[in-house]
Parts: sequence; structure tokens; C-alpha cells
Amino acid sequence: MTPYTPPTQDQLLAINVCAGIEELAQSERFAAAEPDMVEAIVEGIGAFSAGEWAPLNRIGDTEGAKLENGVVRLPDGFTAAYDDYVAQGWNAISAPVAFGGQGLPSTLGCNVLENLGTANFAFNLLPMLSIGAIEALEDHGSDAQKAMYLPKLVSGEWSGTMNLTEPQAGSDVGALRSTAVPIEHGEHAGKYLINGQKIYITWGEHELAKNIIHLVLARTPGAPEGTRGISLFTVPKYLVNADGSLGPKNDLRCVSLEHKLGINASPTCIMSYGDNNDCVGELVGAENRGLAAMFTMMNSARINVGSQGVQIAERALQQAVYYAADRVQSARAGSPDRSAVSIIEHPDVRRMLMRMKSLTEGMRALLYYTSGQVDRGTLGDEPAARRAEVLVPMIKAWGTDTGVDVASIGVQVHGGMGFVEETGAAQHYRDARIAPIYEGTNGIQAADLVTRKLGFENGAVFASLMADIARDSADEPALSALASDCAAIGVWMLGEASLDDRLAGSVPFCEMCAVAVAGWQMLRQKRAVEAGASPSLAQVKPATARFFLDHIVPQASGLKASATAGASGLYELTAAQLAG
Ligand SMILES: Cc1cc2nc3c(=O)[nH]c(=O)nc-3n(C[C@H](O)[C@H](O)[C@H](O)COP(=O)(O)OP(=O)(O)OC[C@H]3O[C@@H](n4cnc5c(N)ncnc54)[C@H](O)[C@@H]3O)c2cc1C
Repeated sequence: MTPYTPPTQDQLLAINVCAGIEELAQSERFAAAEPDMVEAIVEGIGAFSAGEWAPLNRIGDTEGAKLENGVVRLPDGFTAAYDDYVAQGWNAISAPVAFGGQGLPSTLGCNVLENLGTANFAFNLLPMLSIGAIEALEDHGSDAQKAMYLPKLVSGEWSGTMNLTEPQAGSDVGALRSTAVPIEHGEHAGKYLINGQKIYITWGEHELAKNIIHLVLARTPGAPEGTRGISLFTVPKYLVNADGSLGPKNDLRCVSLEHKLGINASPTCIMSYGDNNDCVGELVGAENRGLAAMFTMMNSARINVGSQGVQIAERALQQAVYYAADRVQSARAGSPDRSAVSIIEHPDVRRMLMRMKSLTEGMRALLYYTSGQVDRGTLGDEPAARRAEVLVPMIKAWGTDTGVDVASIGVQVHGGMGFVEETGAAQHYRDARIAPIYEGTNGIQAADLVTRKLGFENGAVFASLMADIARDSADEPALSALASDCAAIGVWMLGEASLDDRLAGSVPFCEMCAVAVAGWQMLRQKRAVEAGASPSLAQVKPATARFFLDHIVPQASGLKASATAGASGLYELTAAQLAG
């Protein structure tokens, strides 16, 4: 596997142009995000990730996490690398100042995770989930809970998890059955006894952090059926004393680890709560309002999972370019010199590499545009907050599907060497495959776009996004046509299309919209570079943006017929005929 070279300049361009960090820094809240600080963070986390986390990516895959006598062990090096991450304060970048964080824009926190995850996809899930837990507690926890949990979650001394899934409750979270019964007497009076089994819990057990704060969804006695009867609880691995010191171990355990296609260094745990009916949890927020609280965590987690598409694509791209420059095979078509050349010279390999590069940069542009809208929402800009919500399914679904596509092209560039494990190209492809599944499958994301978010303010939030793109791309006919098509399909979906028609077209529609926004942001980057921003990208960005506009955008336009074909074709065959 090749080392990781942080794409610092492209990240900075996206942070400057797409997130608009200079404008954010004009607010009192984000005043510290001055250009020097931004550069120091992006360069610093890039160097840290490349130096300390990237070298563990391969061993994390080959050795993986192991459960030994109830304790999860990671390969050598992981503990020290996590300790250094905590000691250098990277976990605290965008966390609240009141609890030890630096209070910087989420855009910079996003960059920390982008670098960590490009270096080591599986390891990055540990801070990613902690950051989600911080946000959920910050928004919904009581003052006492914040004081107890946030300082150590912010520093990274403790980590967080997110416990929704049960065997019968996957996409249908409302089907969960874990229970929480109020404790009426004794030292834990006012708290709850938690009982149940959760599956697939990422970093549910490990010893890198001194405590693990599980955020668990469960039902209180008599709670309504479905999603309206779900409450959220903090369930610490070790109970926490009033003075903040660690008390006895709570009644919870990791039953086993899943054997997976990839992300082998990330322990995916089956967790059992309350084997001895003595698992203590504390309610977060109001009873039966747990899903809303968890959604805070899920929104940020969905953006960060979308970022995983960028991460794996960047790593696969670097690997593929290295291999293509090294591997010599065949003479260049049409050349009088018949000696064999590096495969990077062949047109089809160029096509693959340009596709990988322009898609990676396009995803990154969409990612930071989304994080910039989130930060504006934090500053009280309501239209930006609503726009961010509309963008979340796009970055999550298109970002992660495209991450898989780019990793797959990376395997293809390697030829047979991509299919064997030595080069590392196969690991990227295996690791990438989870991202379209967790944090709400991509099908669920697309459904969220067409059944909920498209309708915000009677369609005005979505329509204004597409209108901005169409207006800004008047001199780019393919892009403005794509934005106009997206707007028209949105009107059709909100008007005459049946629910089934909308759902049938949701995935191609989501992709069209994501490509439209990404293409727009690539165009803005291209213009900025042509006007003098990022001199080191003066040759590169116009070429990759052009490729995106000329190759990726028209392909997305080709999805229009599929997005509007309706649902009838889906049910032509019976279930039996599908199988036969
Ligand atoms: C490695 C890994 C880590 C994970 N980490 C966590 C974690 O930390 N915490 C946690 O709580 N969970 C976690 N999960 C669980 C993950 O979020 C779920 O696997 C995911 O939400 C899908 O649920 P499911 O597996 O039950 O699939 P199902 O819900 O059974 O879905 C199967 C297929 O049916 C489709 N489908 C289902 N319902 C509908 C519908 N109504 N409309 C259209 N299509 C539908 C889905 O899109 C999917 O393609 C993790 C999973 C894995 C594999």
C-alpha cells in the first residue's frame, strides 16, 4: 500500500471556496478561524494522519480487531496512535469551548476526520462516533450530563457510540425492543435499568479510551409503539462517580465481533445490556423523544459518512496513480516508438484516473459546501440550515456510492494486481463497501430526499438551490441543463407523481442533484483558481473541473428518464418470478 499524501491544497481550496471559511470567520463565534489557523490545522492534521495513522491501515486490515476474554484488542500501534491523537488535541477542534473544545467551525472538524479517514478508514470511525455523541449531548443533555460527560468526550479520553440497531430493527428503527425501566430506590434512583441486545455497534468495546459512553435507544414501560415511543440513554461502560472519577463496571458486555468484508480494525460489536439486570442508564432529553435527539447525531454522522466516500476515493486514487506510473505495458497507440510505456500513458487508463480524480474532488467540493451550510446554520442562518438538511442525503448517498465506484476503478487500474491483496487496492474496495449501508442505507437516504426534504417549504428550499446553480452556470450549458432538469423533476415529484413513482425515481434523482451541486462547486473552484487562488492548482483544477463538467455532468443528465419513469416497471414481475 502506498503512503498517504494529504491533498492539502485541494482541501484548502474547498474550505475557502465551497465552505466560505473567510466569511464564517467574520462572525464572533468563528472569529478564530483565520487563514493562518485554518492552514495550520489542515497541514497539521494531514501530517499527523499520514505519519501516525496511515502506517496502521494495512496491519489493521490483516490482523484486525480481536475479542479475547471480553476485551477487544487492536494490533500494535493503535493505542499509541490514539493517545497521540488525544494529546495533540485533534478531537477538540470543533467541540464547544465551554467543555474544552476549540469551538471552530464544523468545516474544520470535518477536515480532521477527512484526513484521519483517508489515512485509516476503520480507525477514523472511533473519533467520528465520539464527535456525534458530543453533538447529541450538547444539544439534548442536561447541564449535569454535559458537565459529566462532555469534557472527557471532547478531549478524547472517553469515546462514544451510537446504539440503534437490533436484529429485528435495522432500517426500521421503530421496531427496536430494548427496554429502560425507571429505578425508584437506592443510589441510582431516577436513572433506568437498561435491557436488550444491540448489533453492529461500531467501536462498542475497546481499551483505547478509558471509558465508553454508549448512547442507547430503548423503550420505557408503556411507551407508544414505533418511533414515537423511543427514548435515548447514556449508558457508560464504567459508571461515573459524582466527582467524575470512574466507578464500577456497568452491566454491559461485548458478546462477539462481526467478521466483515472490510474495516477489520473497527470492532463491530454485538452488545448485551443488562445480562444481570443491573445495567444503569440515564435518560437524555425528554422521554419518547429519543429519535429526535439521535437525529442530531445522525445528521452529522451522515455528513461524516459521506466524507468517507471522499476519503476512500482519495486513497484509492493515490494508489492507482502510483501503480499506473510504475507499471509498464504495451506501446502507446499510434506512436512510432514501439517500446512499452507506463500504463498511465494509455488513453483508457487516463480516462480511469481522470474520472477518479475529478469525482474525488467533486465529492470533496460537495462535502465542504455542505459543512459550510451547517456552520452558517449554527450562526443562525435558517435558510442555510434548511439547505444543509437537503444536502445531507446527497453527500451521504452519492458520496459513498461514488467512493465505492472510485475504489473499484482503482482495482481496475491495477489489472490482476488489483484483485490480489498485496497492493492494498483491494482493501480500499472492501473498506469502501460499508459506507453505502450504515447511517441509513443509501436507498433510505434517497427516500428521505424525495418524501421529506424535497417538500421543505413546499419545495422552495430545493428549488432555490437548483435556481442558484442554474443562474451561476449560465455559461456552462450542460450544468445549467442538469440543474433545470433537477428542478423540473422536483416539481413533478411534489405534484403529479405518486408516492411509488417518487420512490422509484429517488436514487437516480438523488444522484442527479448531488452531481449538479458538486459540478457547481467545481465550477466555482475553477473560477477561483483562474482568478488567482491556489497557484499550485493553476494547471490542475481547471482540468479536473472541465472533466467533471464534460463527462460526469452529462452522465447524470442521462438519469432523467430513469428518475421519471415511474414505478410500474418495478412490479411487472412477482417476487417468485424475480427469483426464477
Ligand atoms: C460494519 C457495520 C457497522 C455498523 N455500525 C452501527 C452502529 O455503530 N450503530 C448502529 O446502531 N448500527 C450500526 N450498523 C447498522 C446499520 O446502520 C444497518 O445495518 C443499516 O441501517 C441497515 O439495516 P439492516 O442491516 O437491518 O438492513 P435492512 O433494514 O434489513 O435493509 C436491507 C435492504 O432493504 C432496504 N430497505 C429496508 N427497508 C426499506 C424501505 N422501507 N424502503 C426501501 N428500502 C428498504 C435497505 O435499503 C437495504 O438495501 C452498522 C452496520 C454495519 C454492517
